Amino acid sequence: MTTDGLGGSYEVIVLGGGAAGLSGALMLARSRRTVLVIDAGAPRNAPAEGVHGLLARDGMAPAELLARGRAEVRGYGGHVVTGEVTAVARDASGFTVTLAGGSTVRALRLLVATGLVDGLPDVPGLRARWGRDVLHCPYCHGWEVRDQAVGVLASGPMSVHQALLFRQLSADVTYFAHTTPPPAGEQARQLAARGIDVVRGEVTALEIVDDRLAGVRLGDGTVVGRQALVVAPTMIARLGILAALGLHPTEHPSGLGDYLPTDATGRTEAPGVWAAGNVTDLSAQVGTAAAAGATAAAHLNADLVAHETSRAVAAHHSPFSPRSEARLCALVAGDQFRHNHGLRTMKLLR
Ligand SMILES: Cc1cc2nc3c(=O)[nH]c(=O)nc-3n(C[C@H](O)[C@H](O)[C@H](O)COP(=O)(O)OP(=O)(O)OC[C@H]3O[C@@H](n4cnc5c(N)ncnc54)[C@H](O)[C@@H]3O)c2cc1C
Repeated sequence: MTTDGLGGSYEVIVLGGGAAGLSGALMLARSRRTVLVIDAGAPRNAPAEGVHGLLARDGMAPAELLARGRAEVRGYGGHVVTGEVTAVARDASGFTVTLAGGSTVRALRLLVATGLVDGLPDVPGLRARWGRDVLHCPYCHGWEVRDQAVGVLASGPMSVHQALLFRQLSADVTYFAHTTPPPAGEQARQLAARGIDVVRGEVTALEIVDDRLAGVRLGDGTVVGRQALVVAPTMIARLGILAALGLHPTEHPSGLGDYLPTDATGRTEAPGVWAAGNVTDLSAQVGTAAAAGATAAAHLNADLVAHETSRAVAAHHSPFSPRSEARLCALVAGDQFRHNHGLRTMKLLR
């Protein structure tokens, strides 16, 4: 683990330092919160060459974007460390976070931004092409494969929808039914109307020539030439470490995978725990994840402010508060003065 001044206790610990976590940490550090980001360094888009569709940063390498984010957080006094959180537990005043290696840090609040894991279809050679010419998102890399021969591997409930979206980018789209029944009814009519061929039969391998996808091989040996293959990963939120807080993966209504439900501000069911980015929004892109991190951080900060204010109000109006005691001393001293000077004491306390 590398640290840049890891202290024992923070107001907020951010679990995961991708777009969501760093954006949240930036808001918190700028709100003068003591904040620690713990990041295992495996953002979801790591295999991609560039981040696309991100205003003012379109095409920037994912690693560079995060390096800039870390520098911005540190610029406001936030701590960012490379490390893996292995356990999170609630204690009397907040949370204890354990890192691989056994060290622990404490926080009053948590922001969970651990992202998700893409479960890829089990086709030999497919994983090695992920983020290059095996793709999933038309907004992330659709432009880059415009007018190319695109295949869509039926591998999730949204595969027909994906085919229709990629048809917007290329006139040459083929739908591989793979291990599923070929689309029927309205879906079959949609594909036909948009000129998307449906190929039956299991895809058993990818054909790679000169480190580029050249085609898709079917079980009967047929090779269909393709330059890009679109798949539907099963998206599983990374939240095993939160089980002790009572937070568990929930099946997403879309059928796309498992996520951590929150309210619109990122607040989870566990008091003191917020979440942002892909861990709670499976379809969030980098910009959306960053925005969600900022929103969650603002609400988390407001929650801390509310808590601190109510404690301050209680202390302010307590007869034992330092201010009340000072007032009492002054009044007692005044009473003594009046007594010494033969004046009648009107009131001791007001
Ligand atoms: C191949 C590919 C290409 C993409 N291209 C684009 C694109 O061009 N444009 C776009 O907008 N979006 C793109 N995306 C989507 C993008 O990856 C996500 O929107 C973004 O990564 C979500 O940010 P996040 O902060 O929620 O999660 P992540 O970026 O995944 O960050 C989560 C971080 O938490 C860390 N972490 C997880 N568990 C732990 C733990 N226990 N302890 C410590 N740290 C932990 C991880 O190591 C990781 O660094 C792409 C996705 C893929 C798969």
